[in-house]
Amino acid sequence: MRLRTFKKGIHPPGNKERTASLPIEVLPLPQQVVLPLGQHLGAPSEPVVSVGAQVLTGQKIAEAKGMVSVPLHASISGRVVAIEPRPHACGQLTPAIVIENDGNERISSELVSNHNLDELSAEQIKDLIKQAGLVGMGGAAFPTHVKYSPPPGKQIEYVILNGAECEPYLTCDHRLMVERSSDLILGLLAFMKAAKAQKGFIGVEVNKPDAIANLKQAAAGLPIEVLPLQVKYPQGEEKMLIYAATGRVVPVGALPIETGVVVNNVATAAALGEYLRTGLPLVSRIITVTGQGIPNPKNVEVRLGTLIEDVINYCGGFKEPPGRIILGGPMTGPAQYRLDIPVMKGTSGILVQTRAEVEKPDHAPCIRCGRCVDVCPYNLLPNYLGDYAEHDKLGEAEKYGILDCRECGSCTYICPSRRPLIQLIKNAKSKIMASRKKG
Ligand code: SF4
Ligand code: SF4
Repeated sequence: MRLRTFKKGIHPPGNKERTASLPIEVLPLPQQVVLPLGQHLGAPSEPVVSVGAQVLTGQKIAEAKGMVSVPLHASISGRVVAIEPRPHACGQLTPAIVIENDGNERISSELVSNHNLDELSAEQIKDLIKQAGLVGMGGAAFPTHVKYSPPPGKQIEYVILNGAECEPYLTCDHRLMVERSSDLILGLLAFMKAAKAQKGFIGVEVNKPDAIANLKQAAAGLPIEVLPLQVKYPQGEEKMLIYAATGRVVPVGALPIETGVVVNNVATAAALGEYLRTGLPLVSRIITVTGQGIPNPKNVEVRLGTLIEDVINYCGGFKEPPGRIILGGPMTGPAQYRLDIPVMKGTSGILVQTRAEVEKPDHAPCIRCGRCVDVCPYNLLPNYLGDYAEHDKLGEAEKYGILDCRECGSCTYICPSRRPLIQLIKNAKSKIMASRKKG
């Protein structure tokens, strides 16, 4: 049988063996959590508690500010000790609510458990999605409820869950699909009802046969199809997944809703399922902690706001002074330069590379081999974009579609001259966006 996939792409080594079969462990509650108000795309949430307040696990501590925003909840019970700028994965200090653990794990009594999907309307489900504080947990961190409010005249036919987990090293979604399939299916059914969609898909790469078998069993008799996908990067990218599942092509510059499809990560669906079942909003997530620099790699469930230092220590600390620490996977995850940044809603992993892995010879000039063009899933010309970006020819770069680049990193990975294409492209995009803002 020919497996579904998309055109172009690359095949980087998966490096998932060390953690793929390790069951999810629960990290002991930290002494303190740091919860940034801006851990999603859109407007940061606004505090509804003050310093000194006693808070309970699951209690709302910050309200959504506007449509493209979500509320934030206390991930442990204790006392709010600060609301102030703290280090954030974006490299800057951003406002955060800091809670000191009281050691009692008191759960908010206002949480409502056992929601019955049959008794909920589409509008009620959309509201619950927002109240749960859900964002894209694959890394995008886009507020989930916004996807379920399509513009007038647009209808959602299909909801697709992304279980591809095509980023090397990461296995947290794999373990979630194996261990938490009933919450995942409940969440998908809720998404489908909110969207009035006729069918759901779960796309999973075939290197996770146990997850595929498990989901097929859990979805038996439901209007949900589990789709085994070819192992290829970036298979989990929204537009690639839509093409693989439905054959529909999202036009350049358009959103998936143009093709009648909404895509969510499997972890987001499982978080919604858990919320409907227990009433607990998004206060924790599963992450993979791995890489040559970590002695005991793991898949761990972590309370949001736990510092990455605490998580790394739980996994045995550093084997040796690290070469690079990446939040997420090696293809798209940002490098981090300090350990006092918190795990957030969109954090899927912590990858620690050794110095030997990171030290690479300098890059050489472009040899016009065209390999970057062959792999770009968005049919761009990364070699030209890199040249234009390097020489600050931003107008030319725009003409050649630099803003359509999804920063998947495939071109950089394949380049035999080790050109830092993605870095050049990212810098040029920021300059273009900054000049647009200036007007
Ligand atoms: S140009 Fe952008 S979208 Fe194309 S391969 Fe490079 S990073 Fe990916
Ligand atoms: S892969 Fe590298 S060397 Fe080849 S054309 Fe692209 S930028 Fe040039």
